[in-house]
Order: sequence, then C-alpha cells, then structure tokens
Amino acid sequence: MNRFKSIIAGLSEIVGPSGVLTESTDLVAYSYDGTSNWHATPDVVVLPTTTEQVAAVMQLAYDQEIPVTVRGAGTNLSGGSIPVEGGIVLCMTRMDRILDIDAANFTATVEVGVVLNKFNQALARQNLFFPPDPQSFLAATIGGCAAENSGGPYAVKYGIFKHYLLGMQIVLPGGRILNLGGKTVKNVTGYDLTLLLCGSEGTLAVITSVTLRLLPRPETRQTILAIFDEVTTAGGAVHRIRQSGLIPAKIEMIDNWIIRRIEEMSPLGLPRAAEAILLFELDGNSAAVENESREVIRLCREADAVDVRPAKDAEEAENFWAARRAGFSAIWGNSPTVLAEDVTVPTDRMAELISTIQTISRRHDVPVVMIGHAGDGNLHPCILTDKKNAEHFHRAEQVASEIFSTALALGGVISGEHGIGLEKKKFLKLAMEPGAIELLKSIKQVFDPKGLLNPGKIWEAGP
Ligand SMILES: Cc1cc2nc3c(=O)[nH]c(=O)nc-3n(C[C@H](O)[C@H](O)[C@H](O)COP(=O)(O)OP(=O)(O)OC[C@H]3O[C@@H](n4cnc5c(N)ncnc54)[C@H](O)[C@@H]3O)c2cc1C
Repeated sequence: MNRFKSIIAGLSEIVGPSGVLTESTDLVAYSYDGTSNWHATPDVVVLPTTTEQVAAVMQLAYDQEIPVTVRGAGTNLSGGSIPVEGGIVLCMTRMDRILDIDAANFTATVEVGVVLNKFNQALARQNLFFPPDPQSFLAATIGGCAAENSGGPYAVKYGIFKHYLLGMQIVLPGGRILNLGGKTVKNVTGYDLTLLLCGSEGTLAVITSVTLRLLPRPETRQTILAIFDEVTTAGGAVHRIRQSGLIPAKIEMIDNWIIRRIEEMSPLGLPRAAEAILLFELDGNSAAVENESREVIRLCREADAVDVRPAKDAEEAENFWAARRAGFSAIWGNSPTVLAEDVTVPTDRMAELISTIQTISRRHDVPVVMIGHAGDGNLHPCILTDKKNAEHFHRAEQVASEIFSTALALGGVISGEHGIGLEKKKFLKLAMEPGAIELLKSIKQVFDPKGLLNPGKIWEAGP
C-alpha cells in the first residue's frame, strides 16, 4: 500500500494531480470495454498530455515493475483494454491534438487521443477524407484504431487502417521514445516497424502520434437498400456483385432479428419483415455513381432481392447508416452476455459460412444473430447467452469454437478487425502454427522484456 502511495505521488509529479485518478468510482469506469463479459479494476488511471509524460510514466512503471494497460476510448470488442493484472491504465484521450494536415501531400499527423469522427470532420473542411471507419467512429480514438488495425464498411473499396499508416511515434516499456516510418507512401527502410505496431493491441509499445495518408473526398455518394427473404441469398448477392467487377465503397448486411431490434429501439425506416438487408454505398464522380447504382440495383434483382430501394436523399441515407451503426447496441440491449465474433472468409464462401452458422446455432440451441461487413467477407455472428447460466454459456462457447473452425476450414480467419485480446486468446492455437506463436512471443520479449505492457492478452499463457 505504501509502495503504491509513493508510486501515485510519482505519477502526480509527472502528469499533475488532475491527470491521476484513484477514486473507486473513477476506477470502475476504466474496468471494462466494449465486451460484456470481461472486467478488471486498475489501481490507478493516468491521463498524460505529452509524449514526454508518457515516457516518464513508462519509465516509472518499468522501474517499479507495475503493469500498464493503454486505453483509448475503451470501445474495443476483444477485452483489449481490460487491466487484467491491475496496475496503471494509461488513458490517451487527453493527447487529442491534430498536429498537421498537409493538404498538398495528402497526409496528416495526429496525436492518438483524437476521436476518429473529429478527425474526419476537420479533414472534410479541406475536402479530404480518411477512409477506415470502424462503426464506433463517434467515440473510437486514432490510437485505438492503430493498435487494433481497425477497418469498417469502407474496407471493401478503401482497405483498413494499415493501408493509411505512414509513420508513428512510440514509447517503449522503459520510456524510450522512437520515431518510425515517415510521410511518404513508398518507404522500404529496414523492417516496417509501423506495420508491426499496427494491430499489436497495446502489447508492444505506447503509440503517441501517427502520420496518415489521406484521400480527396468523393464528389458524390449514393446509398442503396436491398431486401432479401433469406440471409444466404443476401450472401450470394454480395458474391455476384463482387464478381461483376463493381467495387462499391460499402456492402453491409443486417439480419431480421437485428433489423427488428433496431426498429424497436429507434425506428429508422428499416423493413421489419425482411429476413436480411444489404446496404450499399457507391461513391465517386456523379456519372460513375449513377451507372454503378443502376448496375447494383439490376444485380440485386437478378440475385432474387425482394425489393431494392435507392435512398431518396442524404437524410434517408444517413438514417440507413445510423441504423447500421446501432446494430451492436441493439444486440447488447437484448442479452445479458454477447459473444460478438468477427470471423472473415473469402467473399465467395460467405453464403456457406452463413448457412453453416445457422446449422451450428440450431444444433446447440443457442441464438446467433448476424451483422457484418459482407462486402469483404467479415461477418459478426453474435452469440446470445448469459455468463451466469454456466450450462448455457458452455454451449455458447462451443458454438463460438465451431464458428471459428468453420471460418478456418473455409479459408478464413478468426478475427477480421476486433483482434484477439482476451476474448479469442483460447482460440489462437486453432488459427496460428506453433512456430508463429513462438515468434510472436519472442517479438514481445524484445519490446517488453518484463512483460508489463498489456499483460495476459493474445496468447493463453500470458507473456
Ligand atoms: C458499436 C461498435 C462498433 C464497432 N465497429 C467496429 C468496426 O466496424 N470495425 C472495427 O475494426 N472495430 C469496431 N469496433 C471495435 C473498436 O471500436 C475499435 O477497435 C476501435 O478502433 C477501438 O478504439 P478505442 O479508442 O476505443 O480503443 P480501446 O478500446 O481503448 O483500445 C483498443 C486496444 O488498443 C490498445 N491501445 C489503445 N490506444 C493505444 C495507444 N495509443 N498505443 C498502444 N495501444 C493502444 C489498447 O490497449 C487495446 O488493446 C466497434 C466497437 C463498437 C462498440
């Protein structure tokens, strides 16, 4: 206790007393993230405002051998920011300055606490655009997106976070500050450490700022809603559209259970009777968008869509996308525990993935509802269960395990965007060869020899 008192005094000296939280009510607020079945309370929360402060905190933690869990907005869905071994939660939200928007070179440098939506609002004022769009973008920070290598609906056409990452500043465990990468799209200078850090889930270093590639904002956007009477038919339609050579900016899918819950929560105009809907966005210059919209409507009809409706104006389009964003909260609001899975398969195996999941769900008598980024093969089968009901939860875990095996058998992966964290670490061995897991552990050892940074994540036995 006395040791911790002196550590807290040391932390206060580094970031000032207002940057250190120790009240139990504050600590509880940092004990959870976007998952519904993981909680752990830190001993102290530290909110730095500069890279130098981060370095001093990391040095103190290293000397005193205190675990550090980095946190942005805490919206991740893998248990990534849960401080399972207590210690310090290093919350980066006060490092929230956009340092530079270089419109001439289509790059920007930002501190990691910048909220993604704020970043895109600032870019829009200069007619620029940063595509990676996790559907938590109203809250998620750039640092969390970098550490999770986040993507979203725009991945179909524009890719994910790593495709825009040019450089970064990091702080290593022990406090050393390093600048990696640069400002150019082409850069082959030694191993690409920025890419190693991207998606490292806060286990290797604290990222304090990033330099990102930008795009000009598309001139026009058109949203189209297609209605299907089978989830698998919707999956087949996605494949057909991809095969046609069209590249819509977004193709999202929502199943009937989720459609009805969204409409119960806040009616946004989704068709309640539809077994599944697909939402498309086409973007680019007006003539191209008009042609492509016509093609998407034709192909959906050919693929047995019951109805296809282009959004009549920007307001209706925004309603459709708001409904898509509400998908996860609609699911969480209706089940005590949700295992939100994140499997991804090649797009031509999507229909098979969906129908196999339906069979697994029926066999174990555990509801599985589905929402996802259908255009890039990334599906979120959400398993509805209750951790307090051990027998049901056991069946739910069995369902998860079979879903992972199915995705792998179809040539896919166990996580497309949420990461491994705590939620999937049991299953890492299914998805990676033992030699590759050993290599991950060796890399961790090089960056973090004392195993203090975000301990207990990614692989079963801890670092
Ligand atoms: C409703 C909802 C929708 C979502 N939709 C999507 C989606 O479409 N696509 C998608 O990819 N994800 C999605 N997510 C997951 C999540 O929002 C993203 O992973 C997001 O990028 C996390 O950002 P954050 O600031 O909340 O990070 P946090 O949750 O705070 O942290 C995430 C991980 O990053 C680490 N970390 C955070 N900041 C740093 C840093 N500066 N340096 C080093 N490590 C750091 C943490 O330790 C943790 O392991 C969704 C979540 C919700 C709740």
